[in-house]
Amino acid sequence: MLKATNIKKSFGDNTVLKGISLEVEKGDVVTILGPSGSGKTTFLRCINFLESADEGELTLDGIRYDIKGIHNKDILRYRRKTGFVFQGYNLFANKTALENITAGLTIVRKISKSDAINIAKEALEWVGLPDKADFYPSELSGGQQQRVSIARAIATEPNVIFFDEPTSALDPELTGEVLGVMKKLADDGTTMVIVTHELSFAQGVSDKVLFMEKGEVIEQGEAKRFFASPDTERASQFLKISSSDYDFAI
Ligand code: ADP
Ligand code: MG
Repeated sequence: MLKATNIKKSFGDNTVLKGISLEVEKGDVVTILGPSGSGKTTFLRCINFLESADEGELTLDGIRYDIKGIHNKDILRYRRKTGFVFQGYNLFANKTALENITAGLTIVRKISKSDAINIAKEALEWVGLPDKADFYPSELSGGQQQRVSIARAIATEPNVIFFDEPTSALDPELTGEVLGVMKKLADDGTTMVIVTHELSFAQGVSDKVLFMEKGEVIEQGEAKRFFASPDTERASQFLKISSSDYDFAI
């Protein structure tokens, strides 16, 4: 469904991605793990054209996109099929929760205003915020803002949703409500690629894991096996030292 092949990216002399490949089937939840600075965010941004990779190829929904020299209209065509949830929510401060969701629907997708409002209300209901439609981001907690941002992503019915550490800016007590919504999405069969440090959550929802360090894939494969007994000493060490406050494996 989504295939990224040999994605490379340098910032000046700093080679951040040394050729990362990833394959995601429909309904898969893939988590990307690895220490800070290993290039996880850069990779996720590159596979949504938020950052321009130097090399590589993407195939989404049967359509191949050559990254080098890609035209804007192809980037837009690709992004119409994806959703992205940022670490810092990225909501418009001057728009209500509802308007944050309808904006993309009416402007980018040319959906009528009344249909967009219905879709947005349904999405807010889905993330457990039916009563917050008219609230501005500043009137919502971080956890609620992130749930609005998830509602915005699902409202467009994308083929795949990318999450870049969606809970890392949140206090531990707000983390659970966001992970809960993501777990519900996973159970619902949503195709997701998630960068996270929440290991027990990752263990609870993932089908596959990509473990990377210093711009390279160290290990990649079935999640159950990865968490039970990783192939590499490096991954095993990473699993031992990283711990999570939230237990979602149960
Ligand atoms: P991770 O998400 O795994 O912590 P990042 O993808 O954020 O890693 O960063 C990987 C490396 O790329 C880091 O060395 C970081 O400093 C560098 N980097 C990321 N974004 C930029 C940028 N816009 N300009 C220059 N260097 C960057
Ligand atoms: Mg990051």
